Amino acid sequence: MIKVRFAPSPTGFLHIGGARTALFNWMYARAQKGTFVLRIEDTDQQRSKKEFEEEILRSMKWLGFDWDELHYQSQRFDIYREHAHRLLDEGKAYKEGEAIILKMIPDQEIKIYDLIRDEITFDSSDLKDQVLMKSDGSPAYSFCCVVDDALMEISHVIRGEDHISNTPKQIMIYNALGWKVPKYAHLPLIMGEDGSRLSKRNGAVAVSDYKNQGFIAESLVNYLMLLGWSPGNNQEKTTLEAAVKKFSIKKVNKAAAIFSMEKLRWLNNQYFKEMKTDQLIEILKENLQERKVDMNLVDDAQFRELVDLYKGRLATLNDFYDWTDFAFVSDVKISDELKSKYLAAEKCEILKKLADALAGVGQFDASTAESVFKQTVESSGHTSKDYIHPVRVALTGKEVGPSLFHIMSILGKDKTVSRLNHVSI
Ligand code: GLU
Repeated sequence: MIKVRFAPSPTGFLHIGGARTALFNWMYARAQKGTFVLRIEDTDQQRSKKEFEEEILRSMKWLGFDWDELHYQSQRFDIYREHAHRLLDEGKAYKEGEAIILKMIPDQEIKIYDLIRDEITFDSSDLKDQVLMKSDGSPAYSFCCVVDDALMEISHVIRGEDHISNTPKQIMIYNALGWKVPKYAHLPLIMGEDGSRLSKRNGAVAVSDYKNQGFIAESLVNYLMLLGWSPGNNQEKTTLEAAVKKFSIKKVNKAAAIFSMEKLRWLNNQYFKEMKTDQLIEILKENLQERKVDMNLVDDAQFRELVDLYKGRLATLNDFYDWTDFAFVSDVKISDELKSKYLAAEKCEILKKLADALAGVGQFDASTAESVFKQTVESSGHTSKDYIHPVRVALTGKEVGPSLFHIMSILGKDKTVSRLNHVSI
């Protein structure tokens, strides 16, 4: 029976590294029809915080990693104490004040069987005696980790490579307790693109921050999978369901994985492009509501057109409003910088002419707007190319964006005409 666990300490938010560990455990459990345990390692009463624990549980749910069992180490102190006392009684541990310490037996070859790294060998002579229970009565991390993994019958310990150095100590604790050692899989480190350890600066922010930035769970999970594993055939975009069918711990890389924000943005954009418009509309509306955007000036038909026009360039949900804010207000704000760059007096005169010409159009749509624009600009002796930017700035307050004439059509005749006139005053 396969049983794995994800064992976060609620001393911080769930970060990319932790989420990747959770995912690989979860995928392994589901692939093997095993059990996935979530164990909150909250023995450090000073540093463990309720808000971190809540955020971890919320993020796990958001990512879709459901668990079969949930345990809290803070509720298991009696169990740890009992086993520490057993080791005392058996003469394998000793007391130093209130602390209980395991004697290390020297000259033992400790072998770790690691599914990713094969065999790793340590010499027990390199290990110091191990604190099991601290003098304040709380258990030490390695001790409760071993007691729990054994009593919870964890078959495979899948965790970050940074825990390799704890593994020989933990094996010595298993041996002292007379318990069977589980199999291990130490996942490769995740580094930033600059080759340094993942930090806040290069992407190691909380999972909830990615949610707040407008990444969607499916694409973040898909990206996490790629940090050390690949579905094969150079395939990158895959569903969790399909990945579970293919997932094998043995195929996880030894080499460090590189976290690339650009790649994550690219993947998120792929998800938006392939998403049904109705679904995208729904999640974008939720995003705008969360951001307290007043949506009264945009009706459903306009909203749909905006989504169709912009979805190709969205890397995050938040990008949508950053690009389309001009459509949700009556008057667009134009920075002084863009005004002086594109809206000199002679340019504004032509924009005013364009406003007059557009005002006279009966059927106002993208293709009519385009031909009126060309006619007006060219009949005044200018080239259309030179007026694309000024018109775009006048209508949207931005230098770049998708098809200008579709934007005109979405804004409608009245707003288009008034914005072109407005800058010309
Ligand atoms: N609580 C440990 C941590 O957050 C995990 C320990 C383990 O997976 O063995 O790093």
